Amino acid sequence: MRAITVFPGQPGSVRLEDVPDPPASDGPILVRTVALGVCGTDRDIVAGEYGWAPPGENRLVLGHESLGRVEHAPAGAGVVPDDLVVGIVRRPDPVPCPACAVGEWDMCRNGRYTERGIKERNGYGAERFRLESEFAVRVDPGLGLLGVLLEPASILAKAWDHTERIGHRSRGWKPKAVMVTGAGPIGLLAALMGAQRGLDVHVLNRHASDLKSSLVRELGGSFHTDGMAAVDRVQPDVLIECTGSPELIGEVLARTASGGIVCLTGVTAPGHARSLDIGRYNRTMVLNNDAVFGTVNANRRHYEMAAKALALADKTWLARLITRRVSVERWSEALRHSPDDIKVVIDFSL
Ligand code: BGC
Repeated sequence: MRAITVFPGQPGSVRLEDVPDPPASDGPILVRTVALGVCGTDRDIVAGEYGWAPPGENRLVLGHESLGRVEHAPAGAGVVPDDLVVGIVRRPDPVPCPACAVGEWDMCRNGRYTERGIKERNGYGAERFRLESEFAVRVDPGLGLLGVLLEPASILAKAWDHTERIGHRSRGWKPKAVMVTGAGPIGLLAALMGAQRGLDVHVLNRHASDLKSSLVRELGGSFHTDGMAAVDRVQPDVLIECTGSPELIGEVLARTASGGIVCLTGVTAPGHARSLDIGRYNRTMVLNNDAVFGTVNANRRHYEMAAKALALADKTWLARLITRRVSVERWSEALRHSPDDIKVVIDFSL
């Protein structure tokens, strides 16, 4: 079967090639790939800046934003042939640590977790893949191709879940406004979930964009391009940082409303030292009970929350997030990011 593979750490090594069928050790559910979403993590892996091949191998099958149709599933697997499914990305560490032991592999404490298409486990960027039933999530057939948004949506379902858990440290927590920085797929899904919570939604983007601003307006939100002036005007109770830009992160801290929560979602590379007035940050954050936290990945509960959020969302709105679909033959075009892109998908049916 054909698969998109890469030699992690080696820029320019990505290629489409023939590889053996997925091994039975990947799980008893056999899935035919329908679509694969591409994100910044994939581009970082292709650039040689991130990613690890499976132990003993040189190449990694790329891809973690999956959507496929079940070809074969044993009885009791929770899915049946023809179901649309998404594969969960992370697998628990083998120890397991206390978090992995209770199914919260997203909170792994010892870093020995593995991730399909990212860390030591082949991904979903192949014509077929296999899944264990615990890591297969059934997708509402009404979503069709939009089911490929489930994995990125799971990241935001977790971000909101944890934001709310932190918020409820005060019995009086009643957030009004959320500011999302970055209007890529992660930012727009964060905004969608903010709107679903009845919050006053604001999205801050570096550049003007008719498509992105109209998507935000359709959520009832406001789109801003004037940087920290917008954050100061809005005084958000929650700020979800989705750009991973070190400069922006340095600016948004201590800029929320009192008792504010800043949720960091971007995985940045080290090497961005800058000087910060820690005294000022510390004083503001202590006196305001501000919280800053990072969040990565998602466990099964978050995939289920994400599935509900996608089911509630307007399908035409979701469809506008997928700005480009390319065939497997033209896979390399999907990895090139153009400024008008939101989500680019490799469509295996084209
Ligand atoms: C994926 C997560 C993963 C993270 C770090 C993200 O792009 O969506 O599932 O945990 O990268 O590897």
